[in-house]
Amino acid sequence: MVDDLKAAGVLCFGPTAAAAQLESSKSFAKAFMERHGVPTARYGSFSDPQDACSFIRSADFPALVVKASGLAAGKGVIVAGDRDEACRAVMEIMKDGAFGSAGTTVVVEEFLEGQEVSCLCFSDGTWVSLMPPAQDHKRLQDGDLGPLTGGMGAYCPTPQVSQELLQQIRETILQKTVDGMRQEGTPYMGVLYAGLMLTNQGPKVLEFNCRFGDPECQVLLPLLQSDLYDVIMNTVSGNLASNAPVWQQGSSAVTVVMASTGYPGSYQKGVEITGLTQLQDAGLQAFHAGTALKDGRVVSSGGRVLAVTAVRPSLDAALQAANRGMAAVGFPGAVYRRDIGHRAIAHLNQ
Ligand code: ATP
Repeated sequence: MVDDLKAAGVLCFGPTAAAAQLESSKSFAKAFMERHGVPTARYGSFSDPQDACSFIRSADFPALVVKASGLAAGKGVIVAGDRDEACRAVMEIMKDGAFGSAGTTVVVEEFLEGQEVSCLCFSDGTWVSLMPPAQDHKRLQDGDLGPLTGGMGAYCPTPQVSQELLQQIRETILQKTVDGMRQEGTPYMGVLYAGLMLTNQGPKVLEFNCRFGDPECQVLLPLLQSDLYDVIMNTVSGNLASNAPVWQQGSSAVTVVMASTGYPGSYQKGVEITGLTQLQDAGLQAFHAGTALKDGRVVSSGGRVLAVTAVRPSLDAALQAANRGMAAVGFPGAVYRRDIGHRAIAHLNQ
């Protein structure tokens, strides 16, 4: 869309198709990071399943992750328990076509240990302006158990990421990536999202997204003090360096996602949601994802149904407010995590 609109002379906030390969092809992203020395997990990229399995058998990684290279709505990633499971995952992706054309190439990489954080920036193609760091909760259940999901809740900022670490992420990852894209003739403009693992050897990139991540967006935008339209216009006109977006200082945002029973597998739809007006009264925001209006009632229509966001002067106050909101809103069979922010709390209590 950006390519076509630009060709038609329409200003666009977002990367071209060539620049968006950072998200749309994991194999492209890994090779790009290798070329530019952006820290990431060691890997191999394969279009032949036998080659992928030989790599798996001979790699000296303690544990492995197998990924469909293309877009698979967050479902094309298998954290393998052992080498046999990794090979089975390759076969499922490549031979059984579990993810369609997204799986014609697979990336096999080493499993990284650590905490995940999401660091996003606005980029005008030259300059990056970082947003405050956020942390998603990818697993379905409390204690980071259960299957991987699109994200069950987030908070921002993350006290685990010091100013010094954020500066390191800016220099060694986000600015380096934007510089590399410009040098390769595919300048990156828009929102660049780096999903990072904070390892003992420093932050490493798990993935790039070419947009605001979800649910990170639900904690980032409520903290943006500048007008988003101005930020977008400064980005598309290459004026970010002299017009850095301003973020609310001294506030924290927490969002908790409410999902349908069965998600991320199959789930029931059309269940009535109650309590939404109480959220407004409590000064909370509800972001609708999988909801629909049916005969004047709000009903569920997706896996992740809605998210409740609280912005408060402290992380603790925001957590309490968001959790109270979750107790007020609901539908039969609603599933949500009660421990959003647990890593931040553990960090603050250290
Ligand atoms: P998303 O839905 O976030 O776009 P995606 O399909 O692009 O997901 P990744 O972000 O690459 O996939 O991986 C999804 C999740 O799998 C990560 O958030 C992380 O929890 C886990 N993961 C991926 N790669 C690794 C790795 N090398 N080591 C450890 N965990 C990993």
